[in-house]
Amino acid sequence: MIVGILKEIKVAEKRVCMTPAGVSVMVANGHTILVEKDAGKGSGYEDSAYVEAGATIIGTPAEIYEKSDMVMHVKEPQPSEYDLIRKDQIVFTYLHLAADEAQTKALIKSEAVCIAYETIEKPDGSLPLLVPMSEVAGRMAAQEGAKYLEMPQGGRGVLLGGVTGVEPATVVVIGGGVVGINAAKMACGLGAKVYILDTNLNRLRYLDDVMPANCFPVMSNPVVLRELVTKADVVIGAVLVAGAKAPKLLTKDMLKDMKDGSVVVDVAIDQGGCFETSKATTHTEPTYVVEGVIHYCVANMPGAVARTSTQALTNATLPYALQIANKGWKQAIKDSEEIKKGANVVNGKVTFKAVSEAWNLDY
Ligand code: NAD
Repeated sequence: MIVGILKEIKVAEKRVCMTPAGVSVMVANGHTILVEKDAGKGSGYEDSAYVEAGATIIGTPAEIYEKSDMVMHVKEPQPSEYDLIRKDQIVFTYLHLAADEAQTKALIKSEAVCIAYETIEKPDGSLPLLVPMSEVAGRMAAQEGAKYLEMPQGGRGVLLGGVTGVEPATVVVIGGGVVGINAAKMACGLGAKVYILDTNLNRLRYLDDVMPANCFPVMSNPVVLRELVTKADVVIGAVLVAGAKAPKLLTKDMLKDMKDGSVVVDVAIDQGGCFETSKATTHTEPTYVVEGVIHYCVANMPGAVARTSTQALTNATLPYALQIANKGWKQAIKDSEEIKKGANVVNGKVTFKAVSEAWNLDY
């Protein structure tokens, strides 16, 4: 199959959908890989690395769309690309169609086969192509908390791990899923005293088994949360209620009881945020202050560590890209329930229920 690797054109997006190492695996499986010029530059991969891996460099997205059986991206196709997508072409990328009516209609019109990273689902209900970005965001959340606690950043001047004879910082992580456990792991590793809250007792049992001794898994409820946030130097919001906006767990009232110069990191901001005072920020202006508390609410945290994110994404997407390229999309969907769940729009028809419901379209 001829597979096209497109350069990201969404504002400030530096990731690329495949590393040169991923390309070499595709080439070894007999596929022809076309890479748009400078596609990997933002993640530190020069065109020469792709050529060494066996790819051919192509000058324009139009040419990639024209020549490829399957095109891959990180972010959804942008309006300038809608008319380039061809009938029967496979489009494999994050799509998030339930939040984007114009794109949904464009993909229907294209009659392409559109497989979304984010709806590929394993039999246990987990979403393998969302996990790597949650891991990145969780790990970053602890780093950002540590950074903004520093005085030059406006923080209260507390070192996360303390030092000999000096107490470490207290970190409260709300939500013990993928983001939460990764945030807690990093904060624990730096020596902080970490409380991780969840409402799922089985998850708390798991956390209790696997986390180090400076991590305390606690059942989440408003009383416990109010008590813990008064002690906290950093609070990390990492809850997810599937299919719903994030619940506002840290209220403005609770915020008033927090220490001046403490930091809140709302990773759940992409679902509306789980702190009452959260509003989405960007990497150029990541923070603002309410009631003396520094708020970090960047909606696309992995973008700041494009190289790591690119590698993590390729690790997760490559096995699926390979299956689709090796078998063709029809056989891949027949053989894999996971890939079937990824199909959102096929040859002009919506094939994913939530997308049809979002825009009142036939399914
Ligand atoms: P997940 O499903 O793995 O974990 C969510 C956890 O929240 C679950 O364990 C659940 O039991 C728990 N939870 C639900 N309600 C709760 C409550 N009231 N109190 C405490 N815990 C509660 O989800 P995840 O992958 O960890 O993602 C968490 C959030 O981070 C999502 O909103 C996701 O979209 C977001 N995210 C943001 C970025 C970013 O760049 N900002 C990147 C990746 C993920």
